Amino acid sequence: MLADQDLQGLKALVTAGPTIEHIDPVRMITNKSTGKMGYALAKAARRRGAEVTLITGPTQLDPPNGIHTLNVETAEEMRVAVMDHYRGKDVIIKAAAVSDYKPLNKAKEKQKKQTGKRMLEMIPTPDILAELGKDKRDSILVGFAAETTNHVVNALDKIKKKNLDLIVLNDVSKDDRGFAAETNEVRMIDNKGNEKVVPLTSKDEVADKILDRIKYLRTEWMQEKS
Ligand code: C5P
Repeated sequence: MLADQDLQGLKALVTAGPTIEHIDPVRMITNKSTGKMGYALAKAARRRGAEVTLITGPTQLDPPNGIHTLNVETAEEMRVAVMDHYRGKDVIIKAAAVSDYKPLNKAKEKQKKQTGKRMLEMIPTPDILAELGKDKRDSILVGFAAETTNHVVNALDKIKKKNLDLIVLNDVSKDDRGFAAETNEVRMIDNKGNEKVVPLTSKDEVADKILDRIKYLRTEWMQEKS
């Protein structure tokens, strides 16, 4: 309650966690995201006075207080929830680790073991962030990227392709940062190519630093507009 309410009046949409894509009733494709970074962002934004909507894939985390939270499982469900809620938001932060592919068919029955090789046919999921980028009007759009190689080159490419204002880079090749870790070190690159590094620290502190950067970019954008 004593926190500086510097984001009062701001409407934010945050996505968090992994998505899961079903292969059959008991098997699925997912990833190592725990949702911690996205939840830390949602909570920090709320603490600083923003009105926050959180759309989350399955996690072990408690639903945060005072935040309108929607639970989804698949990339398609996340897309529907995001499309239902992104309008009118000042800031959209896509911290979720959305599955890029899903099985072409979900088997109704549990698949029996077979001898020899098996192929699983996969098709791309909708790229939610790219869709938001195409329809972007007055919001700051922030993407996340978990990379193990070529961080900066890939980031700049993604900013252009998905029409982002900011991309937050996680190096997921080390155990003390990125997925599942309590701490994180991130690099933030904006659409003008400016880069800021947040050295290894708690995900709560990283969240505040990301929000500081978003606040700065939003102020800059409002000044350019007027
Ligand atoms: O291209 P890549 O998957 O690495 O981009 C990561 C960013 O794109 C994240 O912000 C993630 O939330 C978003 N994304 C998405 N829909 C997908 C895949 C990724 O919104 N199908």
